[in-house]
Amino acid sequence: MFVLCLSPLNLPKMKNLFTCLLLCSILFSKSQSATGIENVIVITTDGFRWHEVFKGMDSAIANNPAFNQRDSAKIYKSYWAHTADERRKKLLPFLWSTMASDGQIYGNRLYDNKVDNSNPYWFSYPGYSEIFCGYVDTAINTNGYTFNPHTNVLEYINQQPKYKGKVAAFCAWDAFDKILNEPRSGVLVVSGSDSCGGKNPDAQEKLLNEMKLDAFSTDGSEERLDVFTQYEAMDYLKKQKPRVLYISYGETDEWAHAGHYHDYLDAAHHVDKWLKDIWNFVQSDPQYKNKTALLVTVDHGRGDVVKEKWTSHNAKIADAHEIWFAVIGPGIPNKGEVKTAMQLYQKQYAQTIAQLLGLNFTCEHPVAEGLKSIIAK
Ligand SMILES: [Zn+2]
Repeated sequence: MFVLCLSPLNLPKMKNLFTCLLLCSILFSKSQSATGIENVIVITTDGFRWHEVFKGMDSAIANNPAFNQRDSAKIYKSYWAHTADERRKKLLPFLWSTMASDGQIYGNRLYDNKVDNSNPYWFSYPGYSEIFCGYVDTAINTNGYTFNPHTNVLEYINQQPKYKGKVAAFCAWDAFDKILNEPRSGVLVVSGSDSCGGKNPDAQEKLLNEMKLDAFSTDGSEERLDVFTQYEAMDYLKKQKPRVLYISYGETDEWAHAGHYHDYLDAAHHVDKWLKDIWNFVQSDPQYKNKTALLVTVDHGRGDVVKEKWTSHNAKIADAHEIWFAVIGPGIPNKGEVKTAMQLYQKQYAQTIAQLLGLNFTCEHPVAEGLKSIIAK
């Protein structure tokens, strides 16, 4: 905008240089990044495969009685169609309408458009650490790892005066206190059985806290159902207006490990509906409308070559390093499904999140370069 205003073409239209500089300063103060993005929302749904993102329901898995515990006709009614295009729209209608028409979707390996883990482990803690630190530490090799010693991008953003106290994370899995190192980073992390609303929760927050503890949990107290994470995060978004918000859903991974294919698809379908709810709110609120980017991705992939392996993921499961992402926001060209051959990595997200806000993420460890292809025309 600064360049545009001072260009010879526009100068004669200005009453004087003072008017021009005043206008430039107003425009620049409102829009700190080159893209006009002032807020970023990052969303992950644990271990959701690129196969379903781009091809929808897999009939080979659905037809296997070991993975279809319910009425076998019902999964077809919910998610089957004859073409991959129709199937993926049925499963993920928001992703394949708004995000596909106005944003970008990467990771369809049928076009050699590849997104991968850089870490060699292909499970959750190393994946989330890679996403937010922009860096791979091979010593982080267990989901039970202690507090992450490495600075993450949410922490870096929270250190910037403009963003202090305006960065928050809502996560189904309680390990995020450690992954994001809540005590050191100062980023609010509401995860697992944590209460929301701080020391003085309002009526809505109290209800959410009570329901979360009283509800069925797929994984004991370590992980809570995604619906609570979603409602806590939406409540916080509306009341506290964070500049950077991370939401981490876990059920796609839980149902996949359990071998429940219909529940896995239902969990992804719910996430897609919540993406729509979040985006509709964002685009209706003055702080966020046309100033917010949404990045959606996963921590790791899962198996596929041997269909029985779709339930699992680790370094011994071929394909489990294969991931995907989608992004939408002002200044991000609407490329839709990207069908050109390229190789992108999970460790590039951290710098990308910073760059969307016009920041440059630097810290004590090297940070992988951002994803230039997102902004490139
Ligand atoms: Zn898992």
